[in-house]
Amino acid sequence: MSGRRYFGLAFDLDGPSGDALVNGSIWRKPGYFAFGAYGPNRAVPRLLELLAGLGIRATFFTPAWVVRRWPELCLAIRDAGHELAGHGDRHEALFGLPADEQRGILERAQQTFLDVLGAEAHGFRAPSGDLDATTIALLGEHGYRYSSSFRSGDLPFRHEVNGLAELPAKSLFDDYAAFAYTRSPNFPAGLDRIADYGAVFRSWREEAVAGADEGVPVTSIWHPKIIGTPGRLVLLERFLRELRHEHGIRVTRCDEIVADYLGVGAA
Ligand SMILES: [Zn+2]
Repeated sequence: MSGRRYFGLAFDLDGPSGDALVNGSIWRKPGYFAFGAYGPNRAVPRLLELLAGLGIRATFFTPAWVVRRWPELCLAIRDAGHELAGHGDRHEALFGLPADEQRGILERAQQTFLDVLGAEAHGFRAPSGDLDATTIALLGEHGYRYSSSFRSGDLPFRHEVNGLAELPAKSLFDDYAAFAYTRSPNFPAGLDRIADYGAVFRSWREEAVAGADEGVPVTSIWHPKIIGTPGRLVLLERFLRELRHEHGIRVTRCDEIVADYLGVGAA
């Protein structure tokens, strides 16, 4: 028992980035573009208001392309005290890409953060959830101090390759699994997955509270375009209030948790 009780409130602000942007097909699919753009256009402003009301700061893992496309929104996120962290350039799956390509992506991403937000990102989450030893080495070379890419959902640790900190997340806390539905492309494959809202939030609460009781921080993989609907945000607000007031859990940015567990410098 460490006595630490944390919930890492993390959003992946993908917007319309991802495979369809990388291969260009999104420009022939305005409907799918709109599905992604709902995040920055509609959900994030709503979310920022909710977090301001609660006095909670979060981490937004954001592809650099989104930062360039929505600079004012990203500046508003930063100015509200939230952490903007790396998530690739156009949400490329780095796993297995040649080192040169990975390096180019990370350089473009950090340059965008510097140009638009005035500072490089300290945190990074691998788009599509996986990375390899090359990525871990390159992250250390490009100014990143921690990753939140692993899905083991357990205690923070340091990678052997270079000592880079890791704050594991867990797919259970990926809102796509319960709430995402897109037909074309059929992603994630399987369709028909709009689960009962109340049941999903209850499951998340059970895990978050039991994790805190063990001193294991839970870190979310929530997407504003998915969880940021009016109805879901009502439940999200209730969920965050319960964690704090009924269970004594500190809901906060990922860099703060990494700093507490591993001594990695926080902003
Ligand atoms: Zn993502």
